[in-house]
Formats: sequence, structure tokens, C-alpha cells
Amino acid sequence: MHACYAKFAFPSSSMNEAQPHFDFDLAIIGGGSAGYAAARTASAAGVNTVVIEGGEDVGGLCILRGCMPSKALLYAAEVMHLAGQTEVWGIHKRELGFNFSEIMARKNALIKEFADFREQQLTTGKFAFLRAHARFTDAHTLEILPHHGHSSRRKEAATSTPNASGHKSTAHLPTRLTAKNFLIATGSIIAPSPLPQLNEIDCLNSDTALRLTHLPGSLIILGGGAVAVEFAQFFARFGVKVTLIQRSPNVLHEFDPDAAAELEKVFRREGMVVYTGTKLLDARRSAGQKEIVFEHEQRTIRVHADEVFFALGRIPNAARLGLEDIGVQLEYHRIATNAHMQTTLRHIYAAGDCAGLHEIVHIAVQQAEIAAHNIAHPHQMKAMDNRLLTEVIFTDPQIATVGLTEKRAHVRNIPYLVASYPFGDHGKSLIMEARDGFVKLLADPMTGEIIGGCCVGPVGGELIHEIIAAMYSRMTVHQLAAMPHYHPTLAEIWTYPAEELAAKISK
Ligand SMILES: Cc1cc2nc3c(=O)[nH]c(=O)nc-3n(C[C@H](O)[C@H](O)[C@H](O)COP(=O)(O)OP(=O)(O)OC[C@H]3O[C@@H](n4cnc5c(N)ncnc54)[C@H](O)[C@@H]3O)c2cc1C
Repeated sequence: MHACYAKFAFPSSSMNEAQPHFDFDLAIIGGGSAGYAAARTASAAGVNTVVIEGGEDVGGLCILRGCMPSKALLYAAEVMHLAGQTEVWGIHKRELGFNFSEIMARKNALIKEFADFREQQLTTGKFAFLRAHARFTDAHTLEILPHHGHSSRRKEAATSTPNASGHKSTAHLPTRLTAKNFLIATGSIIAPSPLPQLNEIDCLNSDTALRLTHLPGSLIILGGGAVAVEFAQFFARFGVKVTLIQRSPNVLHEFDPDAAAELEKVFRREGMVVYTGTKLLDARRSAGQKEIVFEHEQRTIRVHADEVFFALGRIPNAARLGLEDIGVQLEYHRIATNAHMQTTLRHIYAAGDCAGLHEIVHIAVQQAEIAAHNIAHPHQMKAMDNRLLTEVIFTDPQIATVGLTEKRAHVRNIPYLVASYPFGDHGKSLIMEARDGFVKLLADPMTGEIIGGCCVGPVGGELIHEIIAAMYSRMTVHQLAAMPHYHPTLAEIWTYPAEELAAKISK
């Protein structure tokens, strides 16, 4: 067991001098996106910090099994798709093929690079870093549990990482440690199955799908969230016969139905079978395949495939931390926090997926930075502001939203004016043959302030950043319409709904 443990090696901060009986000012459980962001922020503010990371590999979900590997694969699928469409531009290819092992190898090489870099960031010596599991034994004490499952590659890397502060890493791991403050950043786990029979048929999930050595011939995807639609398109574009089964009336049920419908249209056009508004009834093995039985439009339907992909969500990883025993409250699995990211025990903070409500990296980072700031500056606390909530689905077309969607505006009874414009009628997207999708703006009917944006289309995840910037500085549709946009660009499409709304709202 390797531990990079530098408890007494760091200069004592003023906070520590005030509380000499604690080993650390701040102990962070989990070294993923949230844990690292908090450690970086807190240590820069002079907080004596330790990070405890118990995963098999160092890197966290985003790097190892989330955003980065899935986007690497999706991008390969997009290149494959484009390569199959070249005739439109008068470019004729002889033969188009792919090698799945090479696609996965490229993804693996990228992930190793990202993970190695994260490990370097965690072991610079600016804060202590332990490779172990942690759980609370009381409100200021963690039990440190050796973890024996670290992969050999990462174990070797961690042991050999020099400590920039010159302090020696030791193989000694404490059995307990105390801290004045804590940040729980333990992420999420794949949700338990709602149908016990699914456990019997050995489903793929987002972890195991990333380790496949060959493609299945056919695949049933259960679910219609971000993970479901992104993997569905990846597999379908590499020739797998995909059937997607979603409970809600649309895929991506948290987005506006017009956005979801556009994606469903593209999926079906490319040959995917999409069932929405379903109820799962049964799962079993049948004739060498896997069978899913479900209800759809008052009929019982049976679908067979080589594999079933379980994409019915994740839940916060908050069990087995001893939280109930010390009085930290959970709400539907998630660790309940206030806007300062404090749990019901105010010196214990939580950030990222374990605190819900959004499984999004930049939100995990933002929450963690706020928690670290509040620990370092308890008299100048900052609060989370979800006004600029941004979500991106990296399918083709991409779906990106910021601020209010029409759905959210209805639920919260917020008045708005809306205008949209299709990519099918826009110069640059016609040049690119990227005709699917639209942009949509929501504005305050009185002031014209932009309160929401949605982009379903080419590089939607990039284009939405113009509206994030506009909303960040509280721009009106009049200002956005007046702002120069280069021609011909995809970005100038935003001026059309902005102009339409500006004409309706007097300044
Ligand atoms: C397939 C997939 C694709 C995704 N794509 C995107 C995307 O494109 N964009 C986006 O914004 N988000 C995406 N996400 C979500 C994103 O990955 C997460 O929101 C983010 O990684 C959460 O960061 P975190 O720090 O909260 O948790 P994690 O990164 O999971 O970190 C938690 C860490 O805590 C450690 N840990 C847990 N328990 C203990 C313990 N008791 N003791 C010590 N250590 C412990 C774990 O080993 C882990 O390293 C995706 C997720 C998936 C599954």
C-alpha cells in the first residue's frame, strides 16, 4: 500500500494554530473533479489540507469513466459518420472501414494522459494526498481504511511521483485523522436496477462499455438521459443495431420537447429504433440473446439483442461514509447542502455528484471552489448561483442549454418571450450540411434580458457559450442583436431570434 502522506510537512496555517488539536484544517474525501478543485483552492488560501482518494485509479469519474472517454469515442463516431457522407461535397471514397481496437486504444491513450496529469496535480505537495478509503467515526474524525485494489500502473506512478515540496512520501498510512472541516466529494455510482431481472442478465453500463474489446451486433439501451443517448449514437454509428427504450414521452426528459424531438428524428433517420413512453416489464436470456419486455402504447413488446446497456441513471455515492451516525442528512441519496455547500453539520461540506442535483463537472468544480472558499473565509461566505445552469449533450446534433428552458419557466411560472431559428435555413450550416436543429432564446418580456438559451445543432456545446457570456453580463436581446457577428459563421445564427425578440420588446 502506497501513501503519499505529508501531515506534518506543511507550514501551519493560522487556522491550524487556532485549532492545534486537529491534524488538518480540511480533510477532503475523494480526489475527483470536486475534490481536486477544493484542494487546489483551499491550499492556495493557506488551508492545511489533505485529500483522501480510495479509487482503483486516480483521476475521478470525468477523466477515467465519464466525460473524456465517452467524448473521445463519440468524436470518433462523428468522424466516421462524416466520412460516410462525403459524396454531398463531391468527394468520393473507395472504401470506409474502422478498427475498433484502434478506436479504443486512442481513447485509452488519451485517458492515461489526462489521468497522469491529474495525479501530478494531486501529488505536487501543496496538500497531503492519501490513497485510502475514508469514513467518519465522529464529526471530526475519519477512519482511514487501506485499499488494496489499486491498479499496478497507477500504483507505480503514485509511488514514483516526486513531492515538489521536498517532503518524503512514506508507506505509512494513519488509521485515523482529525480535521476542523471536511469536504465530502465522493461522486456517484450507477443506480441500482429498478427491475431485479436486469441483474440476472448481466447488462453493460457506462463503465463496462468503455472496456469493450469488440462491438456487439445488436444492443438495447435502457434509458434516455445523457449517457443513454451519447452511447446510443456511438454504437449506432459504428454499425451496431441499436434499440433505445425510454420511459418518458421523450428522450432527455429534462430538456424541452422540441430539442429532444430533433434528436429522436436524427436517431430514427440513421436507423436507430427509439421507443418512448414505455414501461419495463421483464428481462431475460433467450436463445443466446438478451430479451427486454416492455409496454408501449398499450401493447407488450419484446426486443432481443446481443447486449443490454443499463443507462437508467446514477445515484450519489453517500452510503457507507458513516454520515447517518454523525447527523449529516441525506435527501433521496444525495447529501443535503445549503447554497454555501454546507451539510446539516456546518463544518462538513459536500460538493459534486454526491451532493446532486446535477451530474455536471463544472458544477462539481464550482461547488467545491465555493466550499473551499467558505472554509478559508468563514466570514465572507459565497453561495452557489444556478442562474447560468448549463447542460450539454454531445450527440450530433449537440444539445446545449443555459439558464431557463421553456419547461423550467413553466414549472416556476416565470413569464418569457421566445424565438427560435432553424439551422436548416442558415448560411454556414447549409455550407456544412448541418441542417438539423435550431437555436432558441428566452427573454424577459418587460426588459428584454436574456434568461435562457438553447442550441440544438452543430457544435451546440461551443455555440451556447455566447449565450452564457451574454447572460453572465445580463445582456438584453437588443444588445445581442446589435453585437457584431462575423459572416458566414454558425454563431451569427443567434442574431435572428435576438432580432425577432428585440422587435417585440420596447427598450
Ligand atoms: C459516461 C459519463 C459521461 C459524462 N459526461 C459528462 C460530460 O460530458 N460533461 C459533464 O459535465 N459531466 C459528465 N459526466 C458527469 C461527470 O463525470 C461528473 O459530474 C463528475 O465527474 C463528478 O465529479 P465528482 O468530483 O463529484 O466525483 P468523482 O469524479 O466521481 O470523484 C469522486 C472520487 O471519490 C473517491 N471516493 C469515493 N468514496 C470514497 C471514500 N469513501 N474514500 C476515499 N475516496 C472515495 C472515488 O474514488 C472518486 O475518485 C459524465 C458521467 C458519465 C458517467
